[in-house]
Amino acid sequence: MSETRTQAPQPAPEMDYIETEENRAAPLRGSYDDCAWAKRPDPIPETQIAETQETEVLIIGGGIAGLAAGARCTDLGLRCAVLEKHHGIVARGAHIACTDSPVMRRLGVSIDKKQFARDWMHICGSRVNEELLWLYINNCSEAVQWLTDLGGDDVELRLFGGRYKGPDFTEYDGTHYMVEKPGHTRYKNRLGASLMCEMLQERCLEGEGNRILRKTKALYLEKDAAGRVAACVAECEDGHYRRFRGTRAVILATGDIGSNPDMLKTFCPLGLVPKRNGYAPQVPDPERPGHKIGLNTGDGHRMAYWVGGQFETPSWALSLHLLAYSIYVFFFLFVNRQGKRFMNEDTWVQAKAIRCAMQPQGDFAYTVFDRKWFQELGERIDITGGQFTEPLVTDYGDKWSEDNGIDRQIERYVARGTCFKADTLEELAAQMEVPIETFLATVARYNELCALGEDLDFGKRSELLTSITEPPFYALKWGPALLNVHGGMLTDTAMRVLDAESRPIPGLYAIGNVAGGLYGVDYPLLWNGNSHSRALTWARAAVADIAEQG
Ligand SMILES: Cc1cc2nc3c(=O)[nH]c(=O)nc-3n(C[C@H](O)[C@H](O)[C@H](O)COP(=O)(O)OP(=O)(O)OC[C@H]3O[C@@H](n4cnc5c(N)ncnc54)[C@H](O)[C@@H]3O)c2cc1C
Repeated sequence: MSETRTQAPQPAPEMDYIETEENRAAPLRGSYDDCAWAKRPDPIPETQIAETQETEVLIIGGGIAGLAAGARCTDLGLRCAVLEKHHGIVARGAHIACTDSPVMRRLGVSIDKKQFARDWMHICGSRVNEELLWLYINNCSEAVQWLTDLGGDDVELRLFGGRYKGPDFTEYDGTHYMVEKPGHTRYKNRLGASLMCEMLQERCLEGEGNRILRKTKALYLEKDAAGRVAACVAECEDGHYRRFRGTRAVILATGDIGSNPDMLKTFCPLGLVPKRNGYAPQVPDPERPGHKIGLNTGDGHRMAYWVGGQFETPSWALSLHLLAYSIYVFFFLFVNRQGKRFMNEDTWVQAKAIRCAMQPQGDFAYTVFDRKWFQELGERIDITGGQFTEPLVTDYGDKWSEDNGIDRQIERYVARGTCFKADTLEELAAQMEVPIETFLATVARYNELCALGEDLDFGKRSELLTSITEPPFYALKWGPALLNVHGGMLTDTAMRVLDAESRPIPGLYAIGNVAGGLYGVDYPLLWNGNSHSRALTWARAAVADIAEQG
């Protein structure tokens, strides 16, 4: 017999209100003055500053975000100067994402924005500024269309078809890539980010008086008497220091902190784990002769901090890609350098990269497969797919073709020594330099699970369990590389940098990877190409605000 009980309402528990120096200062008002990287350089003596140059909008950093801001200044009739420390166009990658485009509509592809936002927040560890997320979701398509229109009839935006199609981790359609149309010769770069940056540069320089000054490294910002950020001091190509004034605003677009180990220690310790830095371009490292370093040394983050800007709370998101050694990873058996299986091979790129990096000697791992692999891959492509399983340039609707070049690429890796091939598993283990007995036991156990049809050890989908029984056997070497760290300054939705009291610092904007708030703790590869369209969207928001401020 059941008994109905009436529950007395529970009072909220009593809690002490605690306010100390420490929690008053955290988390939004962190002080990093004790960190070596936070030391402000001494100002350059006035006698050493060769001259002062003036523009309306001073943009520091000429990657995709900075060039987009420059191009938008042209549209809105603002005069600008872009200061860039590198000698040429800085761009990488191919993909750019948006929620809607003419090609998506033509192909009948759409995105449920509300679900997309929920998935984004979920993956980013609930640390997303939802105002920024919705600014991005609602404006990225217009930004990508604007960019496409800059190329007129010479370019086209194609919809990428190589998304992951498994059940557990949703990747959204909406990743695109820009190409110059066949037979057209307006641009030097044919495809991807290099093309997009060239288009933006062209538009930027169309504005009267607009300039891009390369080999010009900004050192620190200056405020005017009214407390407004109004200038920076930079070291120029000719070796002279100059002051560059932005009468309307200063925009920081200097990229991320991924090549600054001290800043990584503070904000993203996981970024120190991978042994490869995938940022491009890389230049000789002044601190370590014989080594190279990316341009993403957190210069803008520090400049903003020195004038009172606040960082989002660490730990910051990073993007790790499986780019070291090979660009294919697949879903077959993964084996670490100890010869052991270590994960469900059917997860997403970030998960694979981070699991690999966390292994002992985690700079690389192997995917092990046998003679049947190409057929097994083709038979399963419609339930797997995604980056590092399919070619990076795959069009929406493309069907599996024996001619897709993946098998030829693997044979090239064999010739290059980043994929081993052997007639016995013992020989393969010897080439891989893993303990033979452990490796044989790993493969035997995996084959046992395949025969059983159930992955009792790591829960991989049964459809993806394929045996390793027929020679030749392969071990494809792959490893994680750090691309970018996606954390930075707190901003409002006009991209104005916020101070310790969450007030905008007059005159100062942060865009691209200098801006924080969108990614929380993990880079959401549910949508490849979001970083590029975020850069465009933030650039447009900042310049729109500057134009509106008058
Ligand atoms: C290998 C690789 C592939 C990628 N592929 C994709 C992709 O397909 N899709 C995607 O969306 N994202 C991709 N990304 C990420 C994307 O490239 C970046 O997140 C994006 O370019 C950030 O743009 P940004 O302008 O903020 O920074 P950056 O592109 O890093 O540009 C910053 C610029 O500021 C300059 N700078 C820095 N300090 C100073 C200073 N003190 N003075 C003057 N100039 C300075 C730098 O030289 C640089 O040119 C990829 C990243 C990597 C590494």
